Amino acid sequence: MNNIVIVGAGEAGGRAAIALRDGGYTGRLALIGEEVHAPYERPPLSKAAIVEPDEPRPTTISGGDRLGELDIERMTDVAVAAIERAERTLALSDGRRLGYDALILATGARARSLNLPGGEHALTLRSFEDAQRLRERIRAAERVIVIGGGLIGLELAAAARTLRREVTVLEADTRLLRRSTPEILASAVEARHVREGVEIAKGVRIERIDPRGRGFVVHSSLGSREADLVVGGIGALPRTELAVAAGLAVENGILVDAQLRTSDPDILAVGDCANFPHPLYPGRRMRLEAWRHAFASGAHAAQTLLGGDDAYAALPWFWSDQYDLTLQIVGLVEAGEAIVARELGDGATLLFHLDRDGRLVAAAGLGTIERIGKEIKLAERLIGRRASQSAAALADPGVNLKRLL
Ligand code: FAD
Ligand code: NAP
Repeated sequence: MNNIVIVGAGEAGGRAAIALRDGGYTGRLALIGEEVHAPYERPPLSKAAIVEPDEPRPTTISGGDRLGELDIERMTDVAVAAIERAERTLALSDGRRLGYDALILATGARARSLNLPGGEHALTLRSFEDAQRLRERIRAAERVIVIGGGLIGLELAAAARTLRREVTVLEADTRLLRRSTPEILASAVEARHVREGVEIAKGVRIERIDPRGRGFVVHSSLGSREADLVVGGIGALPRTELAVAAGLAVENGILVDAQLRTSDPDILAVGDCANFPHPLYPGRRMRLEAWRHAFASGAHAAQTLLGGDDAYAALPWFWSDQYDLTLQIVGLVEAGEAIVARELGDGATLLFHLDRDGRLVAAAGLGTIERIGKEIKLAERLIGRRASQSAAALADPGVNLKRLL
C-alpha cells in the first residue's frame, strides 16, 4: 500500500494522518478537507471562542506544527464529490481526480437544521466561522433564545449568560440532555443554569420563527417570545452522503467492523460519521459524537492500515464545560441497570452505572474538574477491568477507587 487518502480534515482525519506517519508509513498520504483551515479543535467553539475577550482563532490539532512536519499532502477548500470504487478513484469538487489504495472516511457530522417555517433564522454551530458569527451576534444581542437543551444549547446558554445576556432555552423533551447524561446529573445542570438566571422551558413545541424588526419572534406551544438572536442546537447528522452514493453499508452512520473497515475493505470510516461495534458492550453498535472517539478512532484506523488486527476498544468518553462545572461521562450509561452515587463534596457527584452482574459499565461525574477529574480516570480503569464491584465501596467516598483496582 503506497497511496492512502483521508477524506475530511477534522479531528479524526487529522489524527489518522499523524498516526500513519508516527506508525512508520512512508508512502503518499493526502488529507482532503473542504474547510479552509488546517484540522482544528471544535470543543472551544461553544465555550472559549464565545466568551474570551480576544478574537478567537482556530486551535489547530496537535499544537499546530505536527501536520506541517510530516510530509502530508494537505488539500484545503476542496471537497470530495464522489468515490468511484471500481477504479479506486475520487472525484474532487474542483474537477481533479485522485487515485487511492486505501481510503479513510472522516467526514464528521453537520448541525441539524430546524425544519419548520422560519427555521433558517436559527443559527447553528459546527464550524469556526459559525462560532465567529455567533460570538458577534451574541455580543450584539440582549435577548437570546436557544432551541434545544442538549450539549451545544447548554454550553452556548452558559456562554451567553456569562456575557450577561438574557437567555431562554426551549427544549422539546421533558428533560435536558437525554441523549448523553443521566437524569440526576441533567437535573443538577438545569438547576445551575436556573441559578445563573437562564430560563429553561421543557416539553416545548416550536411552531415557527418570524423576523420582526432587527430580531425575531419564536412561536411555540408556550406562546410567542421575542429575541434578538435565535440559536438552534437540535443535534447533529452524520455526513454519510459520499458513502451512500458509493454503495457502502450505512445505517445511522457508516457501518464498520471491529477494525473500522467499511463494507469495502479498502475503505475505513472514523469519528462522528462511523457506526461501530465495541468489544466491551457486545451486541450493540454505536456512533459517538465526541472528541476522544474522533482522536482514538482516527489513530486506530491508521493501525489497521499498517497491518494491525486489534479491535477498536477505546471507551466512550466526553466532557462538557458549563460555568465552572465540568460534566464527564465514561462508558455507556444505557448498558447499566443500577446506579450507585458517590458524593464528592462541594456538590460534586459521581454516578456509577452497574450492569445486572454488578460490573461497572459507565461512570458520570458533575462538579469542578478538581473534584471529579481523577475519580473519572480511575472509574475508567475499573470499567476496563470488567470485574464486579461492591456497591457499598463505590458509594463510600472514603474508599479510594484505586483500592478497587
Ligand atoms: P469533524 O470535526 O466534523 O470533521 C470532519 C471534517 O470533514 C470537516 O472539516 C468537514 O468539513 C470535512 N468534510 C466532510 N465531508 C467532506 C468531503 N466530502 N470532502 C472534504 N471534506 C469533507 N466533544 C467532546 O467530547 N467534548 C466537548 O466539549 C465537545 N465540544 C464540542 C463543541 C462543538 C461546537 C462541536 C461542534 C463539537 C464538540 N464536540 C465535543 C464533539 C467533537 O468536536 C466531535 O466529535 C469531533 O470534532 C468529531 O471529529 P470528526 O473528525 O469525526 O468530524
Ligand atoms: P444533542 O446533544 O443531540 O442535543 C440536541 C437537543 O435538542 C436534544 O435535547 C433534543 O431533544 C433537542 N431537540 C431536538 N429537536 C428539537 C426541537 N425541534 N425543538 C426543541 N428541542 C429540540 O445535540 P447538540 O447539542 O445540538 O450537539 C450537536 C453536536 O455537537 C453533537 O455532535 C454533540 O456531540 C456536539 N457537541 C458536543 C459537546 C460536548 O461533548 N461537550 C458540546 C457541544 C457540541 P430530543 O433528544 O428529544 O430530540
